[in-house]
Amino acid sequence: TAYGFRQVDENEKQGLVNTVFHRVAKRYDVMNDLMSAGLHRAWKDAMISWLAPSKQPGYRALDVAGGTGDIAFRIVEASRRSAEVTVLDINGSMLEVGRERAEKKGIAENLTFVEANAEELPFEDNSFDAYTIAFGIRNVPHIDRALDEAFRVLKPGGRFLCLEFSEVEMPLLDKVYENWSFHAIPRIGQAVTGDGEPYRYLIESIRKFPNQQNFAAMITDAGFSRVTWRNYTGGIAALHSGWKI
Ligand code: SAM
Repeated sequence: TAYGFRQVDENEKQGLVNTVFHRVAKRYDVMNDLMSAGLHRAWKDAMISWLAPSKQPGYRALDVAGGTGDIAFRIVEASRRSAEVTVLDINGSMLEVGRERAEKKGIAENLTFVEANAEELPFEDNSFDAYTIAFGIRNVPHIDRALDEAFRVLKPGGRFLCLEFSEVEMPLLDKVYENWSFHAIPRIGQAVTGDGEPYRYLIESIRKFPNQQNFAAMITDAGFSRVTWRNYTGGIAALHSGWKI
């Protein structure tokens, strides 16, 4: 099958990821709730509390792989609607859903939507106070390039935060989680979109992603300081933090 467990090369990988998200864009938010049993909301809220965006005017954040806007909208609200947030995604269909949601919430004027690749950000050096990426970096073929770009576009003193699926560090929970991801998630995908295969591919990408410690080392290699992380739900998700000093 097109999305089977064989190795895919990096260009092919981006193509597969793009197909999945084009197909699912309109149902993405429902899928997220079903597939994470609503947990992604709590993880995202925790991400924004750790970020603690400034409420002063002029605060600029970039949310990469921002999809339908979940992180960007939370930053805008947490800043009491003063932050200027750029939502960047490689996928126009996801951004379109994000734009409609922003209009409905009445926060469109705080947001800019940009269709671009995390590996080549169309911004000047030292442009943003914060760089966020949630459940996105795993999909980027060259993670080191995305991290270098994050470092480049942040202002000195800027904050990097990345929320991603990670290594489950609790016995029993890892078994439950494995069952859930290998059986339930592709079935939910099948039921909602008529095709379970792309979800098998996405789950496989979770297993291949570096664990907490190795990912922290990659962030440090990109130049960030004081790199730390927090686990959520036993490590199903982890939030990594770093600073551009
Ligand atoms: N951040 C949102 C959230 O947490 O709900 C969306 C996450 S969604 C699982 C992953 C997103 O990454 C998709 O919208 C996809 O289009 C985007 N993406 C994949 N590869 C990308 C790349 N190379 N550059 C930018 N965005 C990318």
